[in-house]
Amino acid sequence: MAEVKLTPMETNQKPGGDFDVAIVGAGFAGLYMLHRLRGVGLSARVFEAGSGVGGTWFWNRYPGARCDVESMEYSYQFSDELQQEWVWTERYASQPEILRYLNHVADRFDLRRNIQLNTRVLAATFNETAGRWIVETSAGDRVSAQFCVMATGCLSSTNTPNFKGRDRFAGSSYHTGNWPHEGVDFTGERVGIIGTGSSAIQSIPLIAQQASHLFVFQRTPAYTIPAHNNPLDPEVQREVKANYANFRARNKLLPSGLNIRHNEVSALAMSPQERQREYEERWAHGGLPFLGAFADLLLSKEANDTAAEFIREKIRETVRDPVIAEKLSPRTVVGCKRLCVDTEYYQTFNRSNVTLVDVSSSPIEEITKHGLTVKGKEYELDAIVFATGYDAMTGSLLKIDIRGKGGRSLKETWAEGPRTYLGLATAGFPNLFFITGPGSPSVLTNMIPSIEQHVEWIADCVLYVRARGFACIEPTLAAQDAWVSHVNEVAGATLFPTCNSWYLGANIPGKSRVFMPYLGFPPYVEKCDDVAAKNYEGFVLIRGNDDERQATLPVTN
Ligand code: FAD
Ligand code: NAP
Repeated sequence: MAEVKLTPMETNQKPGGDFDVAIVGAGFAGLYMLHRLRGVGLSARVFEAGSGVGGTWFWNRYPGARCDVESMEYSYQFSDELQQEWVWTERYASQPEILRYLNHVADRFDLRRNIQLNTRVLAATFNETAGRWIVETSAGDRVSAQFCVMATGCLSSTNTPNFKGRDRFAGSSYHTGNWPHEGVDFTGERVGIIGTGSSAIQSIPLIAQQASHLFVFQRTPAYTIPAHNNPLDPEVQREVKANYANFRARNKLLPSGLNIRHNEVSALAMSPQERQREYEERWAHGGLPFLGAFADLLLSKEANDTAAEFIREKIRETVRDPVIAEKLSPRTVVGCKRLCVDTEYYQTFNRSNVTLVDVSSSPIEEITKHGLTVKGKEYELDAIVFATGYDAMTGSLLKIDIRGKGGRSLKETWAEGPRTYLGLATAGFPNLFFITGPGSPSVLTNMIPSIEQHVEWIADCVLYVRARGFACIEPTLAAQDAWVSHVNEVAGATLFPTCNSWYLGANIPGKSRVFMPYLGFPPYVEKCDDVAAKNYEGFVLIRGNDDERQATLPVTN
């Protein structure tokens, strides 16, 4: 490729409009990407749509928002000083605490000077002659960068179903993923919440304490395990910190990168009493480790049924009205949708000011001026909370007009579902990287180590390309096709594709049904390392000043 200077049109009229790397998003991923690139002497600018850093934890300020991965794990490990100095106060950190932490990170590593807030990236176009990305923003910027990194988040594009009459409602309405910064006081109000996924399950118990009446509109009941959240014992924190590196290294070798004890035996190999004991222990411990109870919970429907029945029995024990208990009892596969983690969720349905409205067979018909209707009955409401989730994994990417070689858009290219190599890059879009993109373990893991792994891999790759005089890197179609088949094959051997989850895009009308995350952490990390060690096997590297292409090596999974 001939070296071509960008015309002033293609660079930016403003000084400093050319960067080595443009980064979109200032959550956990974008912040660390910036830090890492600056640390190796590259110039980068982060564009963030929000008015502050923090991503998920900037936007999700709904009552009860907190992580479901324990705080000693749900944090960065790239800096030992950082992980030693930061003091977590609860077993599961709350949203305000995580947001404080991320602001601390931004300050501690002096990141803000390269972050442009209140700026949405609208378009990113690859200029083939120059071998650079032209990034255009809502603030009128037009900057160029050799590489572009999408740190746009897997769960950052909110989904508000297109209910008839949506704009007619005279009361207040909110989406959990875009909650007002000043908070919301529901005291004395009749509130309706639509959805019973993780966000709803966290917020319902707290909204019920404030509202005069809370109506919960449930389409599919979810399985939820009590968090048993508590103040973090300083002694536990001290012990983890004394061996933090070992703790982190050990967790990286575990499925999902989480400190969960995984039982290697089949649920069906146990007697009913032994099974019950295991489930009881996991229930008492709380949270996501419940799914580690037996090795085949997501492989065998029969095994899964034992866990499902255990949880349904807990619901019957907790919820006094047997009709409501039955409505709250899921009949789907446990863990097939993201398992929820709660504080006093089922107990909340014993309150006299909470009504569960089943909208599974009779959907919400319309939103009216004064509320909403189901089966012709109007529920009068002062406020509606949409806890209706996200256009996950691809939503934020496809909202940007991303155009690669030949002006081809990512949206067209992924019309039948996302296709990537390792979830990191896609053929036809040179020098474009995704952090926790579709096809990587991402949302099936503790996201922070997965983000760190991607950031470090991308930074190393960028350095490799530049140090060896290449201009561009992109996956070969063959490598990508092989990877996509492998991702599908692995998912197909489990129960994951059997329910209508956002992992499959099934929550968004018209979205292609493709299982997007890769079920293969930790071997995935080895695969990425191996690809890099083999001079980016499965990628094609293009030289800056001629058309010489590096021979691509055969691809293995
Ligand atoms: P995000 O935090 O989503 O940040 C992406 C940023 O990109 C956002 O700030 C967004 O505004 C910005 N952006 C997107 N598009 C554009 C654009 N075009 N222009 C400019 N900016 C843009 N994961 C876990 O592992 N454990 C948990 O306990 C957990 N809890 C969660 C709780 C909630 C309520 C949600 C929604 C998600 C949770 N997750 C959890 C997943 C969570 O998203 C990740 O853990 C992590 O925060 C993702 O960081 P990120 O930087 O990749 O993306
Ligand atoms: P979600 O899990 O996708 O839940 C959305 C809910 O809205 C579902 O109950 C869904 O019902 C319902 N819904 C959607 N459209 C509807 C319609 N037209 N009518 C009626 N109901 C409708 O979204 P979320 O709760 O925001 O969670 C998304 C993900 O974010 C989680 O899975 C998790 O990964 C992460 N998260 C984590 C935590 C945490 O504990 N740390 C908290 C919040 C979020 P159906 O099931 O029938 O589609």
